[in-house]
Amino acid sequence: MEHQNRVFDVIVVGAGIMGSSAAYHLAKCSQNVLLLEQFDFLHQRGSSHGESRTLRLTYPEPYYPGMVHESLDLWEQAQLESGLRVFTETRHLDLGPVENRSLGAVIEVCRAKSMAHQLLDSKQVGELFQQVFDLPENWVGLVTKGGFIKPTKAVSMFQSLAMRRGAILKDNTEVLDIERESRGGGGGGGVRVISTKGMFTSKKCVVTVGAWASRLAKRVSGIELPIRPLHTTVGYWRVRPEFWPEFLPENGFPTFACYDKDYIYGTPMSEFPGLVKIALHGGYACDPDTRECTPDLASLEKVVGPWVRALFRDRVEAEKPALGQACMYSMTPDEDFVIDFFGGDFGKDVVLASGFSGHGFKMAPVVARVVTDLVLKGEAEGVELDYFKMRRFEDNPKGNPKVFEDQVSSYLESN
Ligand SMILES: Cc1cc2nc3c(=O)[nH]c(=O)nc-3n(C[C@H](O)[C@H](O)[C@H](O)COP(=O)(O)OP(=O)(O)OC[C@H]3O[C@@H](n4cnc5c(N)ncnc54)[C@H](O)[C@@H]3O)c2cc1C
Repeated sequence: MEHQNRVFDVIVVGAGIMGSSAAYHLAKCSQNVLLLEQFDFLHQRGSSHGESRTLRLTYPEPYYPGMVHESLDLWEQAQLESGLRVFTETRHLDLGPVENRSLGAVIEVCRAKSMAHQLLDSKQVGELFQQVFDLPENWVGLVTKGGFIKPTKAVSMFQSLAMRRGAILKDNTEVLDIERESRGGGGGGGVRVISTKGMFTSKKCVVTVGAWASRLAKRVSGIELPIRPLHTTVGYWRVRPEFWPEFLPENGFPTFACYDKDYIYGTPMSEFPGLVKIALHGGYACDPDTRECTPDLASLEKVVGPWVRALFRDRVEAEKPALGQACMYSMTPDEDFVIDFFGGDFGKDVVLASGFSGHGFKMAPVVARVVTDLVLKGEAEGVELDYFKMRRFEDNPKGNPKVFEDQVSSYLESN
């Protein structure tokens, strides 16, 4: 069969945004790359499809803003090389009650990193955004640079760029197992990737299988990873026609994230005419193979509806979302990524990058750069990788300690 007598430098398993950008970055670094995907390319059963992903520099954890900054440069480089635009710059608005600890941490990190920002009271937020956001009196708004990325287009951009750089891409090829290949009885020496389309060999392997990570890791090396698949739904809400101009990105409407009892986020009216994306960061546990890929509009109606009514008043129809799109998170207990070597018999030859917990898309380019460094040099600089190691769960099943509230909505998880 095709490509089976060849030893690749790197096989990348999983062609969502992480695997596709990693394949491109590795190929750009002169690696012979094979990218394998279990379903059709650009399918809608994982985490990387859809119409928009927010890019924000603001985080309550101090180790993410630098990664987003580096990603911004790398997004720009990929856009220049491909001739495509996938990122639109806007302002970003973080908002919430002044006493919210997550929002407090966001503001602290913003100051500590000397990020350009405006910290506004509720009245000033109203003035800056044409009175669209009607915040309660004790709320504040933090305005920074942000924007949104077109996800399906971005995945396709990286796949085309990877191919242009010589990578081989194969879809409808599920990886069943990864084994250590021992050469001449001396141990070490590459990996065998066993798939539904036969066996492939490579010197190194990168596993970017999103919500399927725990299952594959268990099968390959018996590792128990606390990465849980969550079914989630993005909702689009109808803006009353007379208010359409205020919700357009070109008229200054921002991407936004609200830190309150629930974490609610959204993007400007840019994807469907008259509809604005407003969704809840949360979901319920699911099996990635058997889940019904239908949107859960009832939960959005219950949790997000009252929020829409309170903040956008009569500008947006708050009874129910006009449209929903199902998606999936790969959630870690601390919502931090997992980027690490598989270890064990594989040593540093297999790298795992998963558990992006509903906020990884914007950082795909830097994840690809880091994964490439780990493959080529066995280490990566410029990113605080200790926060992303698997061993953090050995001492504490909750992972990295946080001084602020959980951001994922437990309301939906209990459904
Ligand atoms: C609704 C929603 C909103 C989000 N909003 C934002 C946002 O605003 N900003 C942001 O930065 N991030 C956001 N995210 C998070 C971001 O989209 C994810 O972090 C990112 O897409 C994860 O990509 P991935 O490549 O790890 O996973 P996936 O896209 O799921 O890719 C994994 C791929 O591996 C394949 N695969 C699995 N097992 C195998 C196997 N055995 N063999 C071969 N292939 C296999 C799968 O089919 C899949 O294609 C959001 C996510 C969702 C769902």
